[in-house]
Amino acid sequence: MGFDVLVFAEQRGGVFKKSAFEALALARALTKGDGAVTAILAGNGVEAKAADLISRGADTVVLADDPALERPGSILLSRLAQEAASSSKASLILLPATALGRDIAPRLAARLDRPWIAEAIEVSRAEHGISARKSIVGGKAFATLATVGDPPYIVTLRPGAHPAADPDPSRSGSTVKLSVASDPLDLRAKVIDLLQSAGQTIDLQEAEIVVSGGRGLKGPENFSLIRDLADALGGAVGASRAVVDKGWIDHQHQVGQTGVTVSPKLYVACGISGAIQHLAGMRTSGCIVAINSDADAPIFKIADFGIVGDLFEVLPIMIEEARKMRAS
Ligand code: FAD
Repeated sequence: MGFDVLVFAEQRGGVFKKSAFEALALARALTKGDGAVTAILAGNGVEAKAADLISRGADTVVLADDPALERPGSILLSRLAQEAASSSKASLILLPATALGRDIAPRLAARLDRPWIAEAIEVSRAEHGISARKSIVGGKAFATLATVGDPPYIVTLRPGAHPAADPDPSRSGSTVKLSVASDPLDLRAKVIDLLQSAGQTIDLQEAEIVVSGGRGLKGPENFSLIRDLADALGGAVGASRAVVDKGWIDHQHQVGQTGVTVSPKLYVACGISGAIQHLAGMRTSGCIVAINSDADAPIFKIADFGIVGDLFEVLPIMIEEARKMRAS
């Protein structure tokens, strides 16, 4: 029996989340030789975007294009995913471990009565289904989970955990339309509005570079240093819970166990001690740079590069150098 994978390709306003391409690349690797990759594209006026998914690895795109999908709720999206799952006969359904993916996945698991593995950082095929690796106990340990029973298996994949493939315009594929029949049950929860967060133009979970600030900044006014470095590096701004609790920055910037989980290529922790709850949200980052005046701060245990120093001296130098690099 072949091994087909269905990917929920998250997009907003026709712009795909990076995690959609990451999941497609993983799906291609998993289906190598004996399976097909299908992507679900649900939105309003997004038909032309199907080609992007094919160039990134989809063989078939299940297209649900309807005004009802301008701001769809997760109940409707989980029903569409269920219909796509039934028609594609996929063994594995991959969704991004984003706010939306995490909302759809358990609903889909309940609809299909199949298991869901959340926040996977690795997925591989196993003798009976799949196995997936994820971090547990606030990031202190890793667990490998294996599925039992019949497919499909549902997995939410942590953004940044698997590299996306470059687009290949020579790839060909087909598009299958999925009609969006209205069902009053889908309207039990509606998305009324989507608000762009003030200041943050780069999605924290999607960012390749994250610069985070903690209590070492001493006050909210000094977050400008974090913003300046993030801007100069083309990254997003993160924060520890301590500063969020103090009201120095909005909760949506919080990285950690009770904030968002990030896995960027580069994570710069400034004036952050490295409590396990913070590490839980960033320890799988590619390269971790820590700036802390205390040489014994726990963050240095997981840092690839550590700068023991006063961030008020170190950050202006880094900002200047990063700006020079950008300009050259
Ligand atoms: P601190 O621990 O106070 O560290 C500040 C650091 O700044 C120190 O290491 C200090 O040496 C350094 N410093 C001071 N001055 C300077 C200077 N001039 N230059 C350089 N360095 C300097 N935390 C999270 O971050 N995310 C979470 O999601 C989260 N969830 C939690 C959930 C629970 C249930 C609980 C109990 C806690 C959670 N926490 C979380 C809180 C966590 O335990 C820590 O309290 C918090 O991460 C500490 O934030 P901090 O590192 O900014 O502050």
